Amino acid sequence: MRPGFVTRLVNGPLFDPVLYVRHLNRRRALLFDCGRFSGLSNREILALDAVFVTHTHMDHFMGFDCILRTVLHRGTPLHVYGPEGMGMRMAARLAAYTWNLTSGYGLEVFVHEVLRDGVLLWCARAGEGFRLRRCGTEPREGTCIVETPRYRVDAVILDHNVPCLGYVVSEPVHVHVRPEALKKHGFRTGPWIGDLKDKVAQGLLDRTLLVPTCRGEEEWKVGDLSDWLFFTSPGHRIGYFTDFRASRENVERIRSAACGLDTLYIEAYYLSEREEEAYLKAHVSARQAGVVARLTGASRVVPMHVSPRYHDRFGDIVSELERARLGGE
Ligand SMILES: [Zn+2]
Ligand SMILES: [Zn+2]
Repeated sequence: MRPGFVTRLVNGPLFDPVLYVRHLNRRRALLFDCGRFSGLSNREILALDAVFVTHTHMDHFMGFDCILRTVLHRGTPLHVYGPEGMGMRMAARLAAYTWNLTSGYGLEVFVHEVLRDGVLLWCARAGEGFRLRRCGTEPREGTCIVETPRYRVDAVILDHNVPCLGYVVSEPVHVHVRPEALKKHGFRTGPWIGDLKDKVAQGLLDRTLLVPTCRGEEEWKVGDLSDWLFFTSPGHRIGYFTDFRASRENVERIRSAACGLDTLYIEAYYLSEREEEAYLKAHVSARQAGVVARLTGASRVVPMHVSPRYHDRFGDIVSELERARLGGE
């Protein structure tokens, strides 16, 4: 079965961690961290609805300018999520440029500063020279920070000597199409299937939809179409955790938010021989990443953000992680 998200570690496992997450069959995407990167096309950047920043060390945040530069003429907003202090950091970033030419631009940047029991919301408009202003506080229920019909994002606050967010992105439910039912009714495939999924997710079962068929376009009721065409399974879940120390509190926070992941992206900064240094610098070793993977029950684990010290020993990083994941630390 095809997963609901298509993911790509833009810089590979060794360099600044940047995870691109595209919704299957849609031209919309999310980005997790934005350090130094190349390898994302303008089209891919233009598809971004939101950027989820774990923390603002340079290797996770310096590429934000490239994103802003690409979406500057866009009419749809860009959402940026980050930890405590994110509003102030974004204000400083945006204030670094001269904006006298953007008064006619429609871009709005919404900044969501994630705190323990609420989210501070800020807004900066291109037409106002990107002056960041507070526009409210959203209460936070549990760990959820975004909920849409197509996906939800949960965030936990981890200790990296500074607050650092760990994220889980998940589909509420995964909707599959029965190809035999399409054929039986003479329906042609196309973007209408995405529209149908959206309407089903929003509970708009009485609405109608124009469906291209071998007989021409036909009007069908959303409820009838979903009964014939769809079946569901549990939604796809992806975890993204980097830059944290292997303290009991951090591991417990990850475990409680990230059970049953399809894929866990996790830093494996050192080999276990440097766990003391890892603890001091608030990173985790490959062994510790493997233990976290085991505790969360992730089906697949992708190590990332490996220290330059170990770039020529990536095979050792992978085997140490796998050994710990399977319980043979
Ligand atoms: Zn860091
Ligand atoms: Zn880092």
